[in-house]
Amino acid sequence: MQRGTNLGRLGDFNQAVIFESIRRAVDGVSRVELAGSTGLSPQTISNVVRRLLDEGLVREDRTIVSGPGKPRTVLELEANRMVAVGIHLDPGVITVVMLNLRGETLHSRRVDIPAVEVPEKTIEAMAQTVDEIISESGVPRTHVLGVGVVVPGPLDPERGVMVDPPLLDGWKDVEILEPLQRLLKLDVVIEKDTIAASIAEQWKSNDAERDNFLTMYVGAGIGAGMVLNGEVHRGISNNAGEVGHFSTGIVAQECTICLRNDCLHASLSFNLIAQNARALGLNLTVPDEGTAEERASGMNEIVTMAKSGNENAVQLIRQCMSHVGQVAGQLCNTLDIGLVIMAGPLWSEVGEWCLDEVRGIINERFSSKNVHAIEVRSSTLGHEVGAIGGACAIMDASLSPKAAALLLR
Ligand SMILES: [Zn+2]
Repeated sequence: MQRGTNLGRLGDFNQAVIFESIRRAVDGVSRVELAGSTGLSPQTISNVVRRLLDEGLVREDRTIVSGPGKPRTVLELEANRMVAVGIHLDPGVITVVMLNLRGETLHSRRVDIPAVEVPEKTIEAMAQTVDEIISESGVPRTHVLGVGVVVPGPLDPERGVMVDPPLLDGWKDVEILEPLQRLLKLDVVIEKDTIAASIAEQWKSNDAERDNFLTMYVGAGIGAGMVLNGEVHRGISNNAGEVGHFSTGIVAQECTICLRNDCLHASLSFNLIAQNARALGLNLTVPDEGTAEERASGMNEIVTMAKSGNENAVQLIRQCMSHVGQVAGQLCNTLDIGLVIMAGPLWSEVGEWCLDEVRGIINERFSSKNVHAIEVRSSTLGHEVGAIGGACAIMDASLSPKAAALLLR
């Protein structure tokens, strides 16, 4: 639990601490309990609660009886008072979600990217989809906290620029933050997909799990998100979590980037997967060395075969994901955490076949296994994890008592 401070100049921070406590209290929380959990004086609690009531963000009209003594009046979140929007740009598809203050999804939509190599068109399509969702929801625009846009890394968050995402042709040095702000006239923050997935999981997890875990994001690319001591680890340029060239320990083929022969990137190159697929008798309609779109549709073909019961396709996918497990195990050694959440658009399709094996590999590689085991589970957020993370990121920036948000004020 975050502790508050009674210094007047940090009033906004206290408001965020108190609001966060009310937001997380599913059954409501009394003023006395708030004072106990935040360490703030009854006077400070009273001032802040008055502001939150005036703004309609909380209500205080329910009493509950628990045990002997007087029934207590509780403060509860007015969950739909404000909303946040998240956009996830993934090769091939844009996902947009609208969340309420409790992080519940009110609306969601997936649209195909119009022409991936023309970023302006895609950015316009993003803004248009956001506008449509807002107007269909009936939520007044003034009740929209903002928009979190989630993109593949690397990115330059200071300039709001996507630097050179390997899987999006034509997106080198593309400015995305400013055009979206201009089109939407809303606050916009930008996050890398792997980091956004961790933010989403942090919002959705329970108290026991929230502070320390690893997210392995498995989408068009693969990356790690790290939550340590309650904070998402971003690195000095918001690009932490690039694990593509970690060694898996299993020889694959020479990597064109790092020149080693056993990195994750080399192990999961589509040309190698396609060769293995053909060796297993799986017929792909795309070339081994195709465009980004052809590679994505090739992976989809393998997933479709697996779904229709082709055991060789399942085996191939399981083998691919085992490499991700090898890298995740090494990260667990580095971080000493007890929970790994497997997430991302591709994992949401294949996780059911791979979870047991990946869990086994991670625990096998974990050096401190005599001290504790590592729980490994699949995200419950499916292909929307990135977009949900974007919406949670704008809520974090506007509402949460995070150190980073405090520095922004
Ligand atoms: Zn490499």
